Amino acid sequence: MSKPNKFPDQEQRKPGDQHKMHPEPELIRKDYKGSEKLKGKVALVTGGDSGIGASAVLHFAKEGAHIALVYLEESKDAEAIKKQVEQEGQECLLIKTDLSSEENCKACVEECVTKFGKINVLVNNHATHFPKNSLSEISKSQLKDTFETNVYPFFYLTQAALKHLKAQDSIINTSSVTAYRGSSHLVDYSSAKGAIVSFTRSLSAQLTDKKIRVNGVAPGPIWTPLVVSSFDDLSDFGTDTPMGRAGQPSELGPAYVFLACQDSSYITGQFIHINGGEIIGG
Ligand code: NAD
Ligand code: MG
Repeated sequence: MSKPNKFPDQEQRKPGDQHKMHPEPELIRKDYKGSEKLKGKVALVTGGDSGIGASAVLHFAKEGAHIALVYLEESKDAEAIKKQVEQEGQECLLIKTDLSSEENCKACVEECVTKFGKINVLVNNHATHFPKNSLSEISKSQLKDTFETNVYPFFYLTQAALKHLKAQDSIINTSSVTAYRGSSHLVDYSSAKGAIVSFTRSLSAQLTDKKIRVNGVAPGPIWTPLVVSSFDDLSDFGTDTPMGRAGQPSELGPAYVFLACQDSSYITGQFIHINGGEIIGG
């Protein structure tokens, strides 16, 4: 990842708009063909309006799933993804909410179940980050924000969803390569991502009896609004990976399909590392 050189104040930070990115990210390859791997299933995807979450949403729709798409405020992006889901003949419920509130987390699971009658796949994917080069610059309120947005909702959403999930259903958590190798300018964010790895492993062990699988994806540098809105200098973004480039969201969506469907029936508590070839232990 490139070295950040200037950061806006945390309070000023807003999620980036995907439709304003140059070039716009590729969310799904034009030649991707679904094969009903998720036919009739309902998937709730947080941060589904853009980037990696939007890629998961579009691949799920190609595989026959209906979608509850949760996002913070980027309505134009969310509407565009909804349209593409509907073009696949699937339904898409948009839920605009701030997931840092426990009540909102519960409410969006209930909204999904009210609309579709069930939930089969929960993708905890949304996140934010506030880069800081020194530990001393991480204020109490930033630390709180990072964990209240990036970690607590994974617990609240999952608690609410577990009332509805059944055998063969699945939970997928988005972590990050930074959980495994650290990040000098994202200390609080990478710590939160580490918590998500441990959450995934612990919960997977708890849910084997119920035959609900819990896995995750740990992306490397991917071309999304999160990075564009956070870092000023992106000229060398991703060039330090073995493949020498950043990834596109379209390179992640198929992994979410794999973890959501029965192709991964003997896998739980694991992470898929989609990071351009960086070798990660775990
Ligand atoms: P993104 O900006 O496209 O997606 C993040 C989404 O999170 C936003 O669209 C926003 O709607 C949602 N969000 C943020 N705060 C929220 C809140 N309080 N309530 C509700 N929704 C909220 O970026 P992305 O890169 O696709 O991020 C998806 C996931 O991938 C994140 O968990 C991120 O940490 C992870 N990740 C990304 C990269 C990368 O290089 N892009 C690398 C490693 C991990
Ligand atoms: Mg967005």
